[in-house]
Amino acid sequence: MLENRTVYLDGAFVLGHEATIPIMSHSMGRGSAIFDVLSFGETKQGSAVFRLDEHISRFQRSASALGMKLPLSDQELRDAVLETIRKNAIRSGAVKITGFHAEPSLSLLPPKKPLHLAIFVIDPEEDFGEKPMTDQESVTALVSRWRRLDPLTVPIEAKVAANYLNGMVARTEASDKGFDYAMMLDSDGNIAEGGTESIFLVREKRLLTPNIGHILQGITRKSVLAVAEAMGIETFAGTLKEELLFEADEIFFSGTIHRVLPVRQLGSRVMPETPGPVTRMISARMKEIASGRDPQFQHWLFSV
Ligand code: PMP
Repeated sequence: MLENRTVYLDGAFVLGHEATIPIMSHSMGRGSAIFDVLSFGETKQGSAVFRLDEHISRFQRSASALGMKLPLSDQELRDAVLETIRKNAIRSGAVKITGFHAEPSLSLLPPKKPLHLAIFVIDPEEDFGEKPMTDQESVTALVSRWRRLDPLTVPIEAKVAANYLNGMVARTEASDKGFDYAMMLDSDGNIAEGGTESIFLVREKRLLTPNIGHILQGITRKSVLAVAEAMGIETFAGTLKEELLFEADEIFFSGTIHRVLPVRQLGSRVMPETPGPVTRMISARMKEIASGRDPQFQHWLFSV
Protein backbone atom coordinates (compact mmCIF):
# COMPACT_ATOMS: atom_id res chain seq x y z
CA MET A 1 0.00 0.00 0.00
CA LEU A 2 1.15 3.51 -0.83
CA GLU A 3 1.15 4.66 2.80
CA ASN A 4 3.70 1.96 3.71
CA ARG A 5 6.05 2.52 0.81
CA THR A 6 9.46 4.03 1.48
CA VAL A 7 9.50 7.52 0.02
CA TYR A 8 12.45 9.81 -0.64
CA LEU A 9 11.67 13.22 0.84
CA ASP A 10 14.24 16.02 0.80
CA GLY A 11 17.26 13.78 1.35
CA ALA A 12 15.67 11.40 3.88
CA PHE A 13 13.52 8.28 3.60
CA VAL A 14 10.08 8.34 5.24
CA LEU A 15 6.91 6.28 5.01
CA GLY A 16 4.30 7.18 2.41
CA HIS A 17 1.84 8.44 5.00
CA GLU A 18 4.47 10.83 6.36
CA ALA A 19 5.15 12.42 2.98
CA THR A 20 2.48 15.11 3.07
CA ILE A 21 2.09 18.76 2.09
CA PRO A 22 0.09 21.65 3.66
CA ILE A 23 -3.24 22.44 1.98
CA MET A 24 -2.27 26.14 1.94
CA SER A 25 0.97 25.41 0.09
CA HIS A 26 1.67 27.15 -3.20
CA SER A 27 1.71 23.84 -5.09
CA MET A 28 -1.76 22.89 -3.80
CA GLY A 29 -3.20 26.34 -4.44
CA ARG A 30 -1.68 27.02 -7.84
CA GLY A 31 -0.70 23.62 -9.19
CA SER A 32 3.00 24.52 -9.19
CA ALA A 33 4.23 20.95 -8.61
CA ILE A 34 6.44 19.64 -11.40
CA PHE A 35 6.81 15.91 -11.88
CA ASP A 36 7.94 13.07 -14.08
CA VAL A 37 6.84 9.46 -14.21
CA LEU A 38 9.25 6.62 -15.03
CA SER A 39 8.78 2.89 -15.40
CA PHE A 40 10.98 0.03 -14.27
CA GLY A 41 10.69 -3.68 -14.83
CA GLU A 42 12.32 -7.06 -14.48
CA THR A 43 15.13 -8.12 -16.78
CA LYS A 44 17.51 -11.10 -16.72
CA GLN A 45 20.00 -8.89 -14.86
CA GLY A 46 17.46 -7.72 -12.25
CA SER A 47 15.21 -4.67 -12.25
CA ALA A 48 16.02 -1.83 -14.62
CA VAL A 49 14.61 1.65 -15.21
CA PHE A 50 13.62 2.56 -18.77
CA ARG A 51 15.45 5.68 -20.05
CA LEU A 52 16.20 7.10 -16.61
CA ASP A 53 18.55 9.71 -18.13
CA GLU A 54 15.82 11.04 -20.46
CA HIS A 55 13.28 11.32 -17.66
CA ILE A 56 15.70 13.15 -15.38
CA SER A 57 16.66 15.60 -18.08
CA ARG A 58 12.97 16.23 -18.90
CA PHE A 59 12.33 16.82 -15.19
CA GLN A 60 15.15 19.38 -15.14
CA ARG A 61 13.71 20.99 -18.28
CA SER A 62 10.29 21.25 -16.60
CA ALA A 63 11.97 23.13 -13.73
CA SER A 64 13.93 25.48 -15.97
CA ALA A 65 10.93 26.20 -18.24
CA LEU A 66 9.23 27.63 -15.15
CA GLY A 67 12.29 29.29 -13.63
CA MET A 68 12.27 26.80 -10.74
CA LYS A 69 15.34 25.41 -9.04
CA LEU A 70 15.74 21.75 -8.12
CA PRO A 71 17.84 20.87 -5.07
CA LEU A 72 19.72 18.01 -6.82
CA SER A 73 21.88 17.65 -9.93
CA ASP A 74 21.01 15.14 -12.69
CA GLN A 75 23.42 12.57 -11.24
CA GLU A 76 22.08 13.03 -7.70
CA LEU A 77 18.52 12.69 -8.97
CA ARG A 78 19.35 9.46 -10.82
CA ASP A 79 21.01 8.04 -7.69
CA ALA A 80 18.04 9.06 -5.54
CA VAL A 81 15.58 7.34 -7.92
CA LEU A 82 17.60 4.09 -7.98
CA GLU A 83 18.09 4.15 -4.18
CA THR A 84 14.34 4.67 -3.60
CA ILE A 85 13.52 1.69 -5.83
CA ARG A 86 16.03 -0.47 -3.91
CA LYS A 87 14.37 0.48 -0.64
CA ASN A 88 10.99 -0.83 -1.82
CA ALA A 89 10.15 -4.47 -2.38
CA ILE A 90 8.76 -3.93 -5.88
CA ARG A 91 10.49 -5.41 -8.92
CA SER A 92 8.45 -3.67 -11.58
CA GLY A 93 6.27 -0.59 -11.48
CA ALA A 94 6.52 3.16 -11.73
CA VAL A 95 8.35 6.01 -10.05
CA LYS A 96 6.88 9.47 -9.63
CA ILE A 97 9.34 12.28 -8.90
CA THR A 98 7.71 15.51 -7.73
CA GLY A 99 9.27 18.91 -7.15
CA PHE A 100 6.97 21.17 -5.13
CA HIS A 101 6.56 24.34 -3.10
CA ALA A 102 5.44 23.20 0.35
CA GLU A 103 5.43 26.71 1.85
CA PRO A 104 1.97 28.14 2.63
CA SER A 105 1.29 30.98 0.23
CA LEU A 106 -1.54 33.21 -0.97
CA SER A 107 0.59 34.77 -3.65
CA LEU A 108 0.43 33.95 -7.32
CA LEU A 109 4.20 34.26 -7.45
CA PRO A 110 5.93 31.05 -6.40
CA PRO A 111 8.14 31.12 -3.26
CA LYS A 112 11.71 32.15 -4.09
CA LYS A 113 13.11 28.90 -2.72
CA PRO A 114 14.45 25.67 -4.23
CA LEU A 115 11.75 23.07 -4.72
CA HIS A 116 11.15 20.30 -2.21
CA LEU A 117 11.59 16.86 -3.70
CA ALA A 118 9.68 13.61 -3.24
CA ILE A 119 10.19 10.28 -5.00
CA PHE A 120 7.45 7.65 -4.76
CA VAL A 121 7.85 4.08 -6.01
CA ILE A 122 4.49 2.74 -7.08
CA ASP A 123 2.91 -0.55 -7.97
CA PRO A 124 0.06 0.84 -10.14
CA GLU A 125 -2.15 -2.20 -9.57
CA GLU A 126 -1.60 -2.64 -5.85
CA ASP A 127 -1.53 1.05 -4.98
CA PHE A 128 -4.13 2.45 -7.38
CA GLY A 129 -6.03 -0.58 -8.72
CA GLU A 130 -4.71 0.12 -12.25
CA LYS A 131 -4.27 -3.25 -13.90
CA PRO A 132 -1.54 -3.31 -16.55
CA MET A 133 -2.96 -3.83 -20.05
CA THR A 134 -2.04 -7.01 -21.90
CA ASP A 135 -0.79 -6.97 -25.50
CA GLN A 136 -4.21 -8.06 -26.69
CA GLU A 137 -6.12 -5.21 -25.11
CA SER A 138 -7.14 -2.00 -26.82
CA VAL A 139 -9.05 1.16 -25.99
CA THR A 140 -11.74 3.43 -27.39
CA ALA A 141 -11.13 7.16 -27.83
CA LEU A 142 -13.02 10.34 -28.58
CA VAL A 143 -11.76 13.51 -30.26
CA SER A 144 -12.41 16.00 -27.48
CA ARG A 145 -14.04 19.37 -27.91
CA TRP A 146 -11.24 20.70 -25.71
CA ARG A 147 -8.14 21.78 -27.59
CA ARG A 148 -4.62 21.09 -26.36
CA LEU A 149 -3.10 23.99 -24.39
CA ASP A 150 -1.58 26.47 -26.79
CA PRO A 151 2.18 27.02 -26.45
CA LEU A 152 1.57 30.79 -26.56
CA THR A 153 -0.35 30.59 -23.26
CA VAL A 154 1.91 28.51 -20.96
CA PRO A 155 5.12 26.46 -21.34
CA ILE A 156 3.29 23.33 -22.45
CA GLU A 157 6.39 21.14 -22.39
CA ALA A 158 6.71 21.50 -18.62
CA LYS A 159 5.20 18.57 -16.76
CA VAL A 160 3.54 20.76 -14.15
CA ALA A 161 0.33 19.84 -12.30
CA ALA A 162 -1.49 23.00 -13.43
CA ASN A 163 -1.13 22.01 -17.12
CA TYR A 164 -3.02 18.76 -16.48
CA LEU A 165 -6.38 20.49 -16.10
CA ASN A 166 -6.33 20.37 -19.91
CA GLY A 167 -6.11 16.59 -20.19
CA MET A 168 -8.40 16.19 -17.21
CA VAL A 169 -11.36 17.98 -18.83
CA ALA A 170 -10.78 16.20 -22.15
CA ARG A 171 -10.57 12.76 -20.52
CA THR A 172 -13.64 13.52 -18.38
CA GLU A 173 -15.63 14.45 -21.48
CA ALA A 174 -14.53 11.21 -23.16
CA SER A 175 -15.39 9.18 -20.09
CA ASP A 176 -18.83 10.84 -19.69
CA LYS A 177 -19.59 9.90 -23.30
CA GLY A 178 -18.55 6.28 -22.75
CA PHE A 179 -15.00 6.35 -24.20
CA ASP A 180 -11.78 5.29 -22.50
CA TYR A 181 -9.42 8.02 -23.69
CA ALA A 182 -9.45 11.49 -25.23
CA MET A 183 -7.59 12.81 -28.25
CA MET A 184 -6.96 16.52 -28.39
CA LEU A 185 -6.43 18.69 -31.43
CA ASP A 186 -4.15 21.70 -31.16
CA SER A 187 -5.46 25.26 -31.44
CA ASP A 188 -5.05 25.10 -35.26
CA GLY A 189 -7.22 21.95 -35.41
CA ASN A 190 -4.38 19.51 -36.13
CA ILE A 191 -3.85 16.27 -34.21
CA ALA A 192 -1.99 16.88 -30.93
CA GLU A 193 -2.08 14.25 -28.18
CA GLY A 194 -4.08 12.50 -25.49
CA GLY A 195 -4.39 13.76 -21.92
CA THR A 196 -1.24 11.90 -20.87
CA GLU A 197 -0.40 10.03 -24.09
CA SER A 198 1.27 10.73 -27.42
CA ILE A 199 -0.58 9.70 -30.60
CA PHE A 200 0.61 7.62 -33.54
CA LEU A 201 -1.18 6.77 -36.78
CA VAL A 202 -0.24 4.22 -39.41
CA ARG A 203 -1.20 4.96 -42.99
CA GLU A 204 -0.05 2.81 -45.90
CA LYS A 205 2.67 1.30 -43.66
CA ARG A 206 4.07 4.72 -42.68
CA LEU A 207 4.17 5.70 -39.03
CA LEU A 208 2.91 9.25 -38.45
CA THR A 209 3.00 11.38 -35.32
CA PRO A 210 2.55 15.10 -34.61
CA ASN A 211 5.74 17.06 -34.37
CA ILE A 212 6.84 18.65 -31.11
CA GLY A 213 5.65 22.21 -30.62
CA HIS A 214 2.08 21.70 -29.44
CA ILE A 215 2.72 18.47 -27.51
CA LEU A 216 4.78 17.12 -24.65
CA GLN A 217 8.08 15.55 -25.68
CA GLY A 218 7.02 12.01 -24.82
CA ILE A 219 9.90 9.68 -24.06
CA THR A 220 7.94 6.67 -25.30
CA ARG A 221 7.15 8.67 -28.47
CA LYS A 222 10.85 9.31 -29.05
CA SER A 223 11.60 5.63 -28.37
CA VAL A 224 8.86 4.39 -30.71
CA LEU A 225 10.23 6.59 -33.52
CA ALA A 226 13.76 5.24 -32.97
CA VAL A 227 12.54 1.64 -32.82
CA ALA A 228 10.43 2.04 -35.97
CA GLU A 229 13.42 3.46 -37.84
CA ALA A 230 15.60 0.58 -36.63
CA MET A 231 12.95 -1.81 -37.98
CA GLY A 232 12.90 -0.13 -41.38
CA ILE A 233 9.45 1.41 -40.91
CA GLU A 234 9.16 4.80 -42.58
CA THR A 235 8.33 7.54 -40.06
CA PHE A 236 7.00 11.09 -40.31
CA ALA A 237 6.76 13.67 -37.51
CA GLY A 238 4.91 16.77 -38.65
CA THR A 239 1.56 18.50 -38.96
CA LEU A 240 -1.27 15.97 -39.11
CA LYS A 241 -4.75 17.06 -40.15
CA GLU A 242 -7.71 15.78 -38.14
CA GLU A 243 -9.10 13.98 -41.25
CA LEU A 244 -6.16 11.57 -41.05
CA LEU A 245 -7.75 10.05 -37.96
CA PHE A 246 -10.52 8.77 -40.19
CA GLU A 247 -8.17 7.54 -42.94
CA ALA A 248 -5.55 5.84 -40.76
CA ASP A 249 -5.17 2.07 -40.95
CA GLU A 250 -3.99 1.89 -37.34
CA ILE A 251 -3.97 4.27 -34.39
CA PHE A 252 -2.22 3.90 -31.06
CA PHE A 253 -1.34 5.95 -28.02
CA SER A 254 2.08 5.78 -26.40
CA GLY A 255 3.16 6.56 -22.85
CA THR A 256 5.35 5.41 -20.02
CA ILE A 257 2.87 3.18 -18.18
CA HIS A 258 1.32 1.25 -21.09
CA ARG A 259 4.05 1.85 -23.69
CA VAL A 260 1.82 1.13 -26.72
CA LEU A 261 -1.96 1.32 -26.43
CA PRO A 262 -3.89 0.33 -29.58
CA VAL A 263 -7.10 2.23 -30.35
CA ARG A 264 -9.91 -0.04 -31.62
CA GLN A 265 -12.56 2.65 -31.99
CA LEU A 266 -12.36 6.39 -32.49
CA GLY A 267 -15.72 8.10 -32.05
CA SER A 268 -18.07 6.08 -34.26
CA ARG A 269 -15.21 4.72 -36.41
CA VAL A 270 -14.29 1.11 -35.69
CA MET A 271 -10.70 0.41 -36.76
CA PRO A 272 -10.26 -2.37 -39.34
CA GLU A 273 -7.83 -4.49 -37.30
CA THR A 274 -6.68 -3.97 -33.71
CA PRO A 275 -3.86 -4.15 -32.97
CA GLY A 276 -2.81 -3.67 -36.57
CA PRO A 277 0.36 -5.26 -37.96
CA VAL A 278 2.66 -2.23 -37.52
CA THR A 279 1.38 -1.57 -33.98
CA ARG A 280 1.97 -5.22 -33.13
CA MET A 281 5.55 -5.18 -34.43
CA ILE A 282 6.45 -2.00 -32.56
CA SER A 283 4.73 -3.09 -29.38
CA ALA A 284 6.53 -6.45 -29.38
CA ARG A 285 9.92 -4.81 -29.93
CA MET A 286 9.31 -2.25 -27.17
CA LYS A 287 8.46 -5.09 -24.82
CA GLU A 288 11.67 -6.93 -25.73
CA ILE A 289 13.69 -3.78 -25.11
CA ALA A 290 12.11 -3.07 -21.71
CA SER A 291 12.77 -6.64 -20.59
CA GLY A 292 16.46 -6.39 -21.50
CA ARG A 293 16.37 -8.88 -24.39
CA ASP A 294 17.39 -6.46 -27.13
CA PRO A 295 21.14 -5.75 -27.34
CA GLN A 296 20.64 -2.86 -29.78
CA PHE A 297 18.72 -0.84 -27.19
CA GLN A 298 20.33 -2.17 -24.00
CA HIS A 299 21.67 1.33 -23.29
CA TRP A 300 18.09 2.50 -22.63
CA LEU A 301 18.03 0.43 -19.43
CA PHE A 302 19.54 1.51 -16.11
CA SER A 303 20.13 -1.29 -13.62
CA VAL A 304 18.62 -0.85 -10.18
N1 PMP B 1 1.65 13.73 -23.37
C1 PMP B 1 1.39 14.16 -22.13
C2 PMP B 1 0.63 15.42 -21.95
C3 PMP B 1 1.84 13.41 -21.02
O1 PMP B 1 1.59 13.83 -19.79
C4 PMP B 1 2.55 12.21 -21.23
C5 PMP B 1 3.01 11.40 -20.06
N2 PMP B 1 4.24 11.86 -19.57
C6 PMP B 1 2.81 11.81 -22.55
C7 PMP B 1 2.33 12.59 -23.61
C8 PMP B 1 3.59 10.57 -22.85
O2 PMP B 1 4.93 10.79 -22.45
P1 PMP B 1 5.88 9.61 -21.99
O3 PMP B 1 5.99 8.68 -23.13
O4 PMP B 1 7.17 10.29 -21.65
O5 PMP B 1 5.23 8.96 -20.80
